[in-house]
Amino acid sequence: MDYDVLVVGGGPTGMMLAAELRLAGVRPLVVERLARPYPFSKALGIHARSIELLELRGIHDRFLEGAPLLSGGHFASLPVGLNYKSLETRHPYGLYQKQVDTERLLTARAEELGTEIRRGHELTALAQDEDGVTATITGPDGEYRVRAGYVVGCDGGRSRTRKLAGIPFPGQEPGLAVLMADCEFSGELPEGEGMGPLRPYGVIRRDLRAWFSAVPLFEPGVYRAMVFRYDHVWPDRDQPVTEEEMRAAITELVGHDCGLTGIQWLTRLTDVSRQAERYREGRVLLAGDAAHVHFPSGGPGLNMGLQDAMNLGWKLAAVVNGWGDGALLDSYHTERHPVGRTVLRNTRTQCALFDPDPRLDAVRETFTDLLRIDQVNRYFTGLGSALDVRYDLPGEHPLTGARMPDLDVWTPDGVRRLSEYFHDGLGVLTGASAEKWKDRVAVVEGEVEGPAMLVRPDGYVCWAGDPVEDGVGLDAALRTWFGPPL
Ligand SMILES: Cc1cc2nc3c(=O)[nH]c(=O)nc-3n(C[C@H](O)[C@H](O)[C@H](O)COP(=O)(O)OP(=O)(O)OC[C@H]3O[C@@H](n4cnc5c(N)ncnc54)[C@H](O)[C@@H]3O)c2cc1C
Repeated sequence: MDYDVLVVGGGPTGMMLAAELRLAGVRPLVVERLARPYPFSKALGIHARSIELLELRGIHDRFLEGAPLLSGGHFASLPVGLNYKSLETRHPYGLYQKQVDTERLLTARAEELGTEIRRGHELTALAQDEDGVTATITGPDGEYRVRAGYVVGCDGGRSRTRKLAGIPFPGQEPGLAVLMADCEFSGELPEGEGMGPLRPYGVIRRDLRAWFSAVPLFEPGVYRAMVFRYDHVWPDRDQPVTEEEMRAAITELVGHDCGLTGIQWLTRLTDVSRQAERYREGRVLLAGDAAHVHFPSGGPGLNMGLQDAMNLGWKLAAVVNGWGDGALLDSYHTERHPVGRTVLRNTRTQCALFDPDPRLDAVRETFTDLLRIDQVNRYFTGLGSALDVRYDLPGEHPLTGARMPDLDVWTPDGVRRLSEYFHDGLGVLTGASAEKWKDRVAVVEGEVEGPAMLVRPDGYVCWAGDPVEDGVGLDAALRTWFGPPL
């Protein structure tokens, strides 16, 4: 083998995955088609669960530094917003951060850990056999082959890896066409009454089933402007948007172009929504947009990619390192596919509610009223932040399958946090010992409130209880998630 794992795509998912693999001593190669990082920022935010995951690796401060914190978000641009302050986490906020910066920090992390990254190199063909995969890569000096144990397609919504592996990508065809610009306005913007807490400017044109909104970004005077048109399909989604097209679209809805100027980026979007039927096909795996695409309502995409990578990284490394089995690797699909399905449902719901068709007024008003109910607001906030993700893991204890609460640990040297014990990417055990798994599970020497817990490297509890009363359960969980004893 030239490498243990070939990671196709050096976007946020690929870089996060490469770092996780390196942390576990695995040798990944990242191939990225673009010679230089994509200069524009699709995503603008990092959610609470992603911040927690970065904290598990001790790198969240780099992301928090200088980034504005958001105390709330929106659901389908309804007038009642989501309250992040209600979240039970050490990070009850969202982070405003441009995707270019997120990617830069993730790339730096992967490089620090010794990842080999080849830019300007594209996967063009793929074959797998019993022992590994053979990938054909086209680089600046021509075509060459790479042999690796596994390949992970982190190559975005149009994933070549997914297509070459023959994994179906079923879903919903687009019915919403959106033009988007990061830009400035020299003229007056219309007040966007009733367009939600984050969209102070805009116009709703029910007659056209269309709307325009301009969301101020944190850079002074810069907006993310969007024109939504329902019942509209782009004849060619890849056709570049021109300034004239954007100007005409705004003028049609608002009556004037609001002095559109200072355009930084123009693009077109749709509400196409698809999910890979399988996240694993033998030695080929998919993560991030390669596994799921959807409209960016609430901004879950990049976040879900990081969370996929965090779920997959340690499992794939365990298999490469010889103590993980096929069942452990299959649990990646079993756990993450339902999460993706729920996120797709959430974004489709929001796309349906964005539709200004007057026949949907009653539904929008009902959802607005529901959002005033704390528990409902909390439900959508938990969903949007991914803090409520739970895996269906074996075990009776209510904590099993939930994300680990970041509790205080009382040690002779002072108070630490449980999250600090995850920096090396091992599992963590509190309130018990696991001598025979000491190379894979770190034991917390200190007092932690509540039951003893066995936590996986991705921060999910896989056993909780009393180690004396349920020693058999603890032993079973150690074997399931951390392989045979030494
Ligand atoms: C307008 C907009 C706003 C968004 N806002 C948010 C938001 O606020 N929050 C959020 O979480 N998400 C948001 N998203 C979604 C987010 O941008 C994506 O989910 C995220 O970029 C996915 O990361 P990825 O690494 O999986 O894929 P990508 O970012 O698509 O990266 C894939 C990489 O693979 C490379 N590649 C492709 N094919 C090959 C090949 N054959 N060989 C080698 N390399 C290849 C590509 O060049 C690319 O660099 C938004 C998206 C859009 C369009």
